[in-house]
Amino acid sequence: MSLFDDHVSPSPQEACDYMRDKYGFDIRALRKERGLDFYKTIALINYIRTKTSSLTCFGCDKTVSALEDLPIHMRENGCFTSIPKDDHAMWKSPQFLFPAYDNDPLLTSFESMSSDEDDDGPDPRVVVPPLEKPIRDLELLMLQEQQQQQSSTISPTPK
Ligand SMILES: [Zn+2]
Repeated sequence: MSLFDDHVSPSPQEACDYMRDKYGFDIRALRKERGLDFYKTIALINYIRTKTSSLTCFGCDKTVSALEDLPIHMRENGCFTSIPKDDHAMWKSPQFLFPAYDNDPLLTSFESMSSDEDDDGPDPRVVVPPLEKPIRDLELLMLQEQQQQQSSTISPTPK
């Protein structure tokens, strides 16, 4: 679950702790510093996962020959803190709103984490919807339209 090696933590929270302690990559602190909302956090995680899975450093786009070389490179070059700038295209790319890994536990963890942040003045814009809800709503809408179309062709309501 770690973003930078194949370390698997028992929970997303521990995965965050692991990355913070081992690499100095503190996603929770980053969210506050950069004002990342739910979707931006998702985009960032997926962006890093995509890069890591192709053995590429998300900070400077350098490719390494083996996964274990990646954190070494990133530590030596300070790439762990090279979060994409606000105008970077990845923030707007819908590609990164979809999980790089199916059911990535790290993505869903930020729903529960957001409640911890309520104490220190939550940003009212940061509403944390379940990731799949917009998709579910859309599916429901399409289903309803389909049913309406079907019912109108099969038994048109007389006026
Ligand atoms: Zn790098």
